[in-house]
This record gives sequence, structure tokens and C-alpha cells, in this order.
Amino acid sequence: MDLLEYQGKQLFAKHGVPVPEGRPASTVEEAVAAGEELGYPVVVKAQVLIGGRGKAGGVKLAKDKAELEQNAEAILGMDIKGFTVHELYIEKASEIDEEYYAAILLDRTARKPMAMLSRKGGMDIEAVADEDPSAIAIEHIDPLLGFRDFYGRKLAFEAQIADDVVGPVGAMLGKLYEAFVAEDAVLVEVNPLLITKDRQVVALDSKVTIDGNALYRHKDTAEMRNPSDEDPQEQMARERGLTFVKLDGNIGILGNGAGLVMSTLDVVAQAGGEPANFLDAGGGSKAEAIVNAVEVILSNEKVTAVLFNIFGGITRCDEVANGLVTAFKQLKPSVPFVVRLDGTNDEEGRKILADADLPNVHIEETMLGAADRVVELANAA
Ligand code: GDP
Ligand code: MN
Repeated sequence: MDLLEYQGKQLFAKHGVPVPEGRPASTVEEAVAAGEELGYPVVVKAQVLIGGRGKAGGVKLAKDKAELEQNAEAILGMDIKGFTVHELYIEKASEIDEEYYAAILLDRTARKPMAMLSRKGGMDIEAVADEDPSAIAIEHIDPLLGFRDFYGRKLAFEAQIADDVVGPVGAMLGKLYEAFVAEDAVLVEVNPLLITKDRQVVALDSKVTIDGNALYRHKDTAEMRNPSDEDPQEQMARERGLTFVKLDGNIGILGNGAGLVMSTLDVVAQAGGEPANFLDAGGGSKAEAIVNAVEVILSNEKVTAVLFNIFGGITRCDEVANGLVTAFKQLKPSVPFVVRLDGTNDEEGRKILADADLPNVHIEETMLGAADRVVELANAA
């Protein structure tokens, strides 16, 4: 579960991580009241579960009430990469001297938490990793030792941050680690980690992801969830009872069974394609579930081709084929579909598809063949 910036900062504050003073606001009136209370200048910040708000115009400085009113009005309701702004965070403005980057995350391969520190913050950390990987220092934390001071000094030295803030930055990393462990987070990110003009060390932004399986022991955090903040496509899938995860690519994926869908993602990636989603239509997928699933997959405008990979066990391939025929009648998709049906009633399923003579549906016998085909079609689009 991802937290909004201000929710993450509330957790930070609880664990002693310094953050600027601020108030959430969901109307212009609330925003103005917050500004009057905090004192100007303030920053007006869109609260959405996506990064890059600054570049999108969702972070604006206001030096007085009039500017605050104007900015709050402009940012509320704004669309940032498909997310609508329902809420603002009004924060006392900070004076920037330097912007660093810090994060604690779970490195599953190393089976340890990992701390990261960079002197190049305030920008996209992926871009830093591409252009100047040496600017990012990384240290795995021994969970039995916890975050010791030497980790902080080592990171600070390798990231070549300014000498005068080595102590306080190390201390902040230690507190972020405490928050990470105590709150069952899988990611805690601070970008920028701000060094103010008077050399104070402050978390100016927060990105916190809590392990959803641990929410039962964090009632307060669980209550922070607001379904209308989440990705619209994931919301749509959840309302329809589908197991769905949005990904970055352009190839829509549908399969039955989590294991099969995961291996389908791998095979598509191996064939040189980029999956747009994980979608498990579940065992025994009925026609209606298939129609729902196709609708969810196609609601992502990036999708240029779709792969159906069905292994019939409890699921019957003829049911899936009927679902696909219905979905084509209702939704009239304009992108190509590659369909691989194997297992229970696969011949019947293929016959149904052949009889329906659906436009732009390509039948493949094998999973690898289907992956190659869908990548070819997606790239041609
Ligand atoms: P993001 O774009 O979604 O990552 O939002 P951030 O919270 O990181 O804000 C983006 C940028 O806005 C920061 O990197 C800062 O340069 C700027 N910014 C945010 N808060 C303040 C502030 O209090 N004072 C000043 N001067 N700039 C700020
Ligand atoms: Mn940021």
C-alpha cells in the first residue's frame, strides 16, 4: 500500500525524522486556513500516488494568501498522469541549499534491507543511475545489527556529501531505517533530502510503501487508505474482482492462475516485449469474467496488442472462447489479440473462435509461439 506524501511524513515525524510543518487540505478554504496558521511563504503540493508532481505543475510556492488561493484552486482537480488531485498539502516553505536523495528498501535478492544515498537528489533517481551511477552509494543493512552509525558514515563518504552534514544525514538514515522496520515498509524514499540554507537536514518529500500483508498490525496506517487515490485502472479491476497489477509496457496480458500469468510475463519479456499488466482471471473463468477482464485491459490506452494464455484445468477453454466472442461483440477492440488455448476443451474453444471469425484474432498453439507473435504485432502497431 502506497501512502500519500503527507501520510508518509506523518510516519516520519512519529519516528523522529525532521519534516517541515504542514497541513492537509481538501478545499481552497481549508488550504487558506492552513496557510494563515503556518505563516507565509508556503508550498502548495498535490497529494497523488505518483511522482513527478513538481514537473507536472503540482507543486507551487505561494508568498501570500492571494497566491495560495490561486495555486490551491489551480492544483485541486488537476490531472497528474491519470491521477486526479483530491487533496493538497500546505507546507511551510523551505529555503533550498542542496538536494540529496535517500532511501531504504527491501532488496529481495540479497534478502536484506538496503540503504541508498546520493548527493544528486531532487531529480529522477533512475536518471541518475543511468547517467552517473557512481553518484549513488548503496549499503546493505544487517537486520540483526540494525542501522549502526558506521553505515551512515560509509554511505556519506561514498556519496561524497558535504562534510558538515555527515552526522545529521547519517542520523536521518538511522531514523528512516527505524521507521522502515517498525512500520513494516518495503520502501521509504526521501527525494529531495533537503539541506536548507542554514544547513538543517529535512525530508522535503516522502514516498512510503507499506507491506500490504502487514497492515493487520498497523490499524492507523490501514485507515489511511483511500481507494479513490489509487490507480484508476487498478480500481476498475478491483471493483470487478480481478487480480490485476498495472505495469509499464504495451502488451495486455490475461491468463488463468497466478503462476501461469507470471511465467507469461517472463516469456513475453524474453521475446522482447513489455507487458502492460498482470491479470489473473482466476480458475474456472466464466464468460462474464473474461468480458470484464478485456474491458479492464483495453482501458489502458498504451495497450497495442493483447495476449490470452489459457491453460484449461478447472477453467474450460470453450468458456473462455465464448467470453472472448462476447467481449468482441460488446467492446469491438481495435488492437490484435493472440490466443493460446491448451487443456480442457481446447479444441472446442478454438472451434468457437474459428466459427465466430473475429477480426484480428491470432491463434497460437504454444506459449512461446504466442509470445513471439504478440510482440511482433505489438511492435507493428
Ligand atoms: P515530486 O516532484 O512529486 O517529487 O515533488 P517534491 O515534493 O519532490 O517537490 C518537487 C520540487 O519542488 C523539489 O525538488 C523542490 O525543488 C521543490 N520544492 C518543494 N518544496 C519546496 C520548498 O519548500 N521550497 C522550495 N524552494 N522548493 C520546494
Ligand atoms: Mn520528490
